[in-house]
Amino acid sequence: MTLLPLPAFTDNYIWMLHNGRDALVVDPGDAQPVLDALQRYSLTLRCILVTHHHADHTGGVHILRETTGAEVYGPAAEKMPEPILRLGDGDQVSGLGINFQVMHVPGHTAGHIAYFAQLTGETPLLFCGDTLFSGGCGRLFEGTPAQMLTSLERFAALPPETRVCCTHEYTLGNLRFARVAEPGNADIANYQTHCQQLRDASRPTLPSSIGQELLINPFLRSHLDSVAREVQGHDPMGVSAEGVFATLRQWKNKFQ
Ligand SMILES: [Zn+2]
Ligand SMILES: [Zn+2]
Repeated sequence: MTLLPLPAFTDNYIWMLHNGRDALVVDPGDAQPVLDALQRYSLTLRCILVTHHHADHTGGVHILRETTGAEVYGPAAEKMPEPILRLGDGDQVSGLGINFQVMHVPGHTAGHIAYFAQLTGETPLLFCGDTLFSGGCGRLFEGTPAQMLTSLERFAALPPETRVCCTHEYTLGNLRFARVAEPGNADIANYQTHCQQLRDASRPTLPSSIGQELLINPFLRSHLDSVAREVQGHDPMGVSAEGVFATLRQWKNKFQ
């Protein structure tokens, strides 16, 4: 299976998975990059997976369904470009012969879902939409800090080698914040250098991995003293694990 991040808009990636003949895509906010890739690699689009209702993740669904006849899957409880097949936590969906497990991961939006797959002979894959980013996490538009923390903890429990396919290239901005949130963490500085080199070469910093994120992402590390200390210096309200996480998220919202 070939995994490709198709750049869209200013910083989105539409993930494409293909076997040289058939393809699936995740969160096609724009149809054109997908149509271009289908033509370039002579592929047939079979399946579209959607994680949440935001337009930069759904805008291309209608055109792609009409031009290719691909099946569209999406979250059980969000407004979607109909008709789609709706999925909830624990459901399984098959695309290109791969079995995806559906996880309901509220926080960024109320009905946000993610797709996890264990592929034979390949490292597992996670399509996490706008819930987890490399070095950061999605903004809480419709969910509570407690919900987002639980969603991220479920990702943290996946196999460390899992490839994390985030839908935005936010890594460098997130790492600037991560350095301030956990100044003593040398892994963040090293990863920042690595990602800067990738971006300088116009390459994506993604996919990341669960193991990498556990080392450098403050939003997966809010239970650690090294993160709690900085957060409490910033706002003494952050005492419980949930309080630390909530303060961290608010601090990041204002971080320039
Ligand atoms: Zn979103
Ligand atoms: Zn988005």
